[in-house]
Amino acid sequence: MLNFQAKAGLLASKTILVTGAGDGIGKEAALQYAQYGATVILLGKTVSKLEAVYDKIIADGGREPAIVPLDLMGATPQHYRDMASTIDNQFSGLDGVLHNASVLGHLEPFQQISEDDWHKVMQVNVNSQFFMTQALIPILKKSPCASLLFTTSSVGLKGRAYWGSYAISKFATQGMMEVIADENENTSIRANCINPGGTRTNMRAQAFPAEDPNLLKTPHDIMPLYLYLMSDESKHESGKTFHAQPK
Ligand code: NDP
Repeated sequence: MLNFQAKAGLLASKTILVTGAGDGIGKEAALQYAQYGATVILLGKTVSKLEAVYDKIIADGGREPAIVPLDLMGATPQHYRDMASTIDNQFSGLDGVLHNASVLGHLEPFQQISEDDWHKVMQVNVNSQFFMTQALIPILKKSPCASLLFTTSSVGLKGRAYWGSYAISKFATQGMMEVIADENENTSIRANCINPGGTRTNMRAQAFPAEDPNLLKTPHDIMPLYLYLMSDESKHESGKTFHAQPK
């Protein structure tokens, strides 16, 4: 799907929530979704980054986005219920969610993973999207064609030494996607995972500090799949994992 050709207005009239929209892959996805006509809800931790994305969308002539400043580390189920009712009241609905925000945690042997690291990675990478999705599904059900997109990783498909909490969190993400997809087989909601593959972002640099980033695809390069899976072109796809780059 790297060669998916998005048509102008592909996402017109859609409202899409992107987590981790201030940087890396999430930032690029938010910009692209807006470029193709969506109203984008920008959720993230660092407000100045979200404001920069907001300004760029406006400067590029996109529909006015919304900013949701939220640190997933401290957010509770009540935060997500409040967010869901605000979205329900302020927009005509919600048609898509890109669960993109994640933390890497420490890459270390299994025996050395600290309680703190485990809880932090599970809170941001798993608990947040579990409670957020529970709160948002009733609103997504009102959309004629809703897409729930989760972000996995190659270490969430085959476990790898020293990728401990992060790898385990991505297996949980994969499981969550499959459970939701199966339960919603006969509804207007579909759920899929994207594995971006090695992409030039801060997280990748943190994981592979000695790597030459110029050898990697940029977030922009991998956007065709993100557009395809958020658009109605993919309405028959559910319960699957898509790779944004050849494996
Ligand atoms: P980045 O680290 O570049 O961006 C992560 C985003 O998540 C940032 O916007 C960050 O916000 C946000 N975020 C992190 N913690 C929190 C939090 N507690 N609350 C709210 N937002 C938070 O990562 P990538 O763009 O590289 O990764 C995007 C997704 O792709 C992740 O799920 C990652 O696991 C996955 N992935 C990436 C690969 C790659 O090679 N880049 C490969 C495989 C998977 P802020 O900047 O404000 O901290």
